Amino acid sequence: MPEGHTIHRHARTQRGAIGGQLIRAASPQGRFAHGAKRLDGRVLEDIDAHGKHLFYRWEGGDTLHVHLGLFGKFKLHRAPSPPPPSENTRLTMSSVTATVYLAGPTICELIDPHQEEALRARLGPDPLRNGSRRAKLAAFQANLARRRIPIGAALLDQRVIAGIGNVYRAEVLFRTGIDPHLPAAALAPQAVERLWSESSRQLKQGEKAGRIITVDLGDVGARRRTDLARGERLYAYGRTGEPCRRCGTPISATEMANRTIWWCSSCQPAGAGT
Ligand SMILES: [Zn+2]
Repeated sequence: MPEGHTIHRHARTQRGAIGGQLIRAASPQGRFAHGAKRLDGRVLEDIDAHGKHLFYRWEGGDTLHVHLGLFGKFKLHRAPSPPPPSENTRLTMSSVTATVYLAGPTICELIDPHQEEALRARLGPDPLRNGSRRAKLAAFQANLARRRIPIGAALLDQRVIAGIGNVYRAEVLFRTGIDPHLPAAALAPQAVERLWSESSRQLKQGEKAGRIITVDLGDVGARRRTDLARGERLYAYGRTGEPCRRCGTPISATEMANRTIWWCSSCQPAGAGT
């Protein structure tokens, strides 16, 4: 599933391509025919992202809510006449200069301000959103303090922090040296702050680059980030049994919150983070 950096990147690139313009909307697949008809011919005023959710704001007050889920995909064509959409395209949005195709989303619906408020109230702070760092960090800290589940599970809970997925949870815990099994509420305030800062830094880099690269170049003997092969970009994720890039210990793996998590038992020893 795409993590928050991908969703924010979609918001940014689509805003640049079709934002502020009159949009022709359609649903080739038919499942969003009613909604597309309602949006067709109106101006798309802005596109906003919170965690893994996208909010398209239309002239007249409607909001289109999209969540890609596991299989959802966007295609952006920057040409006046794009190739025709496939028949399973849920929604097409075309300005005179660019077209966005959306297929396979978990959610594609029109919502009113009350529904949006209720939805947003269930999402934790998002490091990629504007706003006071202090307020977001305080919210993150309070969310962790209420949970006894392992920190590795808490990071996947979108009510705790919005936008972290399975790759980033393993990588930010590795980079901060925190034991993934530690109960969320047991983290020391300094560890919480390190975790927030690291999550922010990594998500911002990912949004900018369009890919997740968490290694420091010196740890993989590379000179430039663009030189990194696919298998060299991460410290822990997907590296079961391979040597830790910092200490050589084989990387461990276990199930946490129904997904596999990877960590180094030497760089992130039991209890680290308290
Ligand atoms: Zn290690």
